[in-house]
Amino acid sequence: MTLTMIERKNSSKLLLSVQNLKIQYRKKNEYIEAVEDVSFNIDRGKVVALVGESGSGKTTTALAIPNLLPANAIIKEGVILYKGKNLIQATHEELRAIRGKEIGMVFQDPTSFLDPLMRVGDQVAEVIVKHESIKKKEAILKAKNILEKMRVTEPERIYYYYPHQLSGGMAQRVVIGMAIACQPSLLIADEPTSNLDLTVQAQILNLLKALNHELGMSILLISHDLGVVSGIADRVVIMYAGRIMEEGDVHSIFKNPRHPYTRALLVASELGEDMVKQQNDFPSDLLSSSSGCCYRHKCPYVMERCKENPIEILLDQDSRVYCWLYSNES
Ligand code: ATP
Ligand code: MG
Repeated sequence: MTLTMIERKNSSKLLLSVQNLKIQYRKKNEYIEAVEDVSFNIDRGKVVALVGESGSGKTTTALAIPNLLPANAIIKEGVILYKGKNLIQATHEELRAIRGKEIGMVFQDPTSFLDPLMRVGDQVAEVIVKHESIKKKEAILKAKNILEKMRVTEPERIYYYYPHQLSGGMAQRVVIGMAIACQPSLLIADEPTSNLDLTVQAQILNLLKALNHELGMSILLISHDLGVVSGIADRVVIMYAGRIMEEGDVHSIFKNPRHPYTRALLVASELGEDMVKQQNDFPSDLLSSSSGCCYRHKCPYVMERCKENPIEILLDQDSRVYCWLYSNES
């Protein structure tokens, strides 16, 4: 993201600013370029969707924010400013205080996140006790209240259930409850609905939207399906092969998608096709920092110039695209 774009953002509204993030994974003696020059902002109270097919670097970007990357990941470059503080340089103590309390996280598979041997309500209460200096009894009351807010039916009863007694949707409500128990300013939700059937998916998205409205909580919502984020996101960031292809407000992305990849995602979503299945492994040359547009091998509009790295092209007030097709519009 150019400096002008960052400066244009009103800093009092800005909650998170990811700037020029570059992340590699080490695998034996090989280095995989998972994220390359990724920049985006999240304003307070806004929902930003990170969309791209499998392997495009969404989870890697998300995990970098609260510094939860696996041990073989290396942050090569970049800044992650959260409320003005660079989280990449934060100490273990600072990060521990931020995780859960300032930044909540929800993942694809709620059951893997829950302790199978502990009552689900107690797991919510435990998060509260960890971050707030209150007694267990008070935390239990609060946890029941949170379950109710998560629209868990019969929270008094469900509190005492074990994870295996819950449906997938109910388990995800509990996990979201744990993530927002301490009213974080940012919720990172990584494919929170992709394991759920369509009706339950819609209910969980409605719940997230309600939490965004009621608590003013910002959300980074990750999905491989543009359709999933259409009703909830304020802004959309499109990623492919570790790079940003396009970013804009939700209306411009849906009404006037510019990048050929964004268009392909839209068509796939309209047809109900699952882009996640299309490409589980990028050819290694696409995930390396070799020059040229990484989408050129699939792009119907490919031209000679695409062998050069596309530059950021500002389209309107705060939309941008990385595609040579628009180089005359800037
Ligand atoms: P998905 O939609 O499948 O969740 P994603 O967009 O979240 O995909 P990432 O999981 O961030 O993508 O992966 C980005 C790239 O990094 C991929 O090429 C992936 O194979 C690689 N990668 C991810 N995790 C690791 C790891 N722990 N070790 C090595 N490579 C990894
Ligand atoms: Mg992922």
